[in-house]
Amino acid sequence: MTISEKVAYIQGLFDGLKLDTEKSGEARILSEILDVLREMGQQLDSVDAAMDQFDEELDTLEDTVADLEEAVFDDEDEQDEDFDDEGDEDFFEIPCPTCGEDLVVDDEALAAGVVDCPVCGGKFALSFEDDENGSDGE
Ligand SMILES: [Zn+2]
Repeated sequence: MTISEKVAYIQGLFDGLKLDTEKSGEARILSEILDVLREMGQQLDSVDAAMDQFDEELDTLEDTVADLEEAVFDDEDEQDEDFDDEGDEDFFEIPCPTCGEDLVVDDEALAAGVVDCPVCGGKFALSFEDDENGSDGE
């Protein structure tokens, strides 16, 4: 029961008494008080309606902010996850010496010491002695 409904109920009780507000001072005061209560109830109703509207607008804003957050920040998260996934597997890529295609060197290829190129069909041995070229001068 809202306040307006309670006031209407009390108004009904008051009307049922059939008091003469012209002759009875008490009845006159009660009638005035009921008028004030009714007005307060109406104002509270409009405040409630305004609050409901604010709630809806706030929900819409929250959704918009959530969408924005997703658009702005989610890419980074996904990239991090992708990076983590790749980090679980031990492999690296080297360019095919024949055709330049990036070749995946995984555990299997490392163990065999040989990489097959799926593009040009070439095979070449893995060499880990490149260090000599890089550090020789120093
Ligand atoms: Zn190749």
